[in-house]
Amino acid sequence: MFSGSFKVRSVLVQFVLPHSRGSSHGQTWVIRKAYKQDFYIHMMEESYKLWTQLEEEAGVKLYRQTGLLVMGPETSDDYQLIKTNLQNNNIPTVILNRDNFNQHIPGVNLSEGHGAVVEVTAGLLYADRALRTVQGQFLKLGGTIRDNEEVTGITPGPLVTVTTPAGVYRAKSVVITAGPWTNAVLARTGLQLPLQVVKINVCYWKEKVPGTYDVKKHFPCFILTECEETKEHIYGLPANEYPGLVKICYHMGSPTDPDQRDRQTDRSDIDILQRYVARCFPGLIPVPAVVESCMYTLTPDCHFVLDYHPSHNNIVIGAGFSGHGFKFGPIIGKLLSELSLGEVPSYDLSPFTIGRFQATSKSSL
Ligand SMILES: Cc1cc2nc3c(=O)[nH]c(=O)nc-3n(C[C@H](O)[C@H](O)[C@H](O)COP(=O)(O)OP(=O)(O)OC[C@H]3O[C@@H](n4cnc5c(N)ncnc54)[C@H](O)[C@@H]3O)c2cc1C
Repeated sequence: MFSGSFKVRSVLVQFVLPHSRGSSHGQTWVIRKAYKQDFYIHMMEESYKLWTQLEEEAGVKLYRQTGLLVMGPETSDDYQLIKTNLQNNNIPTVILNRDNFNQHIPGVNLSEGHGAVVEVTAGLLYADRALRTVQGQFLKLGGTIRDNEEVTGITPGPLVTVTTPAGVYRAKSVVITAGPWTNAVLARTGLQLPLQVVKINVCYWKEKVPGTYDVKKHFPCFILTECEETKEHIYGLPANEYPGLVKICYHMGSPTDPDQRDRQTDRSDIDILQRYVARCFPGLIPVPAVVESCMYTLTPDCHFVLDYHPSHNNIVIGAGFSGHGFKFGPIIGKLLSELSLGEVPSYDLSPFTIGRFQATSKSSL
């Protein structure tokens, strides 16, 4: 998560890289500006530019435009807010109606009473490739990545002391971005945040006729804000990663311990997805062909934490990315860097403060 401007010297990671035990692995994830909140849209304007800059500097393709189909009950707040926000921010969109929907989006049944809008410039990020690229650029700029080195101790002070089994480091400032392990790391500084770690079943569904929902046939990414099967979002990406398999996932999971992720075996989300896929994707076999695992670290409002430690202003925390943080990677890196250098952050960070949890019991010193 440290990209954007280069100010970080060393990164400590507990597992050997690359690993599939956190929140950032995966071949492709969605990049979009379709949000209910203006502040995310504004951050994404710059994030797109920084991803492009990274592509140019590294000579690697990280983004593919596919468009993002947003569907939801026409009269619901969620769907209407996303649609009007896209339009008010002059983001290119195409509004679909029941008559022209299947000309543009073949092989999908639009539910009764649902609207559909396509955010044209959205698409997918080649996530694993992006991580490799960021790490490569960081090393080229003189940074150090120490993987297989778990942070086991943090002692605050004018110089923060960080301890691992391999050594002791002292730094003027430290940024903690420990994903699902955030509270385990913060416990060493006396802080706990109201974060919930959930396991996500990442489901891939086989096309009955290969190519029906393929990225090469311009099938878009999609988000469904709610449907008769669930009030949670369902999202999908076109067949691209594994030939003939479309990734469709439930945007919520069941609580888990990040050190024992796969002991969580709840499949009620998969039952919901099966019913939805059977009803609305007639070209897919409605049983997942492959299920992989990932974790979200959720805050109560699903907005990020980008803030100073309440007691130590040389410890900066980036956490709670709630299953939608990857696309913001470069801008989050820039903001955390600004905070750690004591600079005025480029964006209003009031939606991301730790103070907003004060009424919540688990945020304690
Ligand atoms: C299924 C799924 C789908 C997603 N889809 C999207 C999407 O479409 N679009 C989007 O923008 N985002 C998406 N995301 C979210 C995105 O991937 C994450 O929000 C983002 O990558 C932030 O992850 P993170 O850096 O907080 O955590 P992680 O990637 O888990 O990184 C934390 C790192 O800290 C390390 N660590 C923890 N404790 C220690 C310690 N004590 N010492 C050393 N190292 C430690 C961990 O090992 C890990 O490497 C998705 C996530 C999942 C799981």
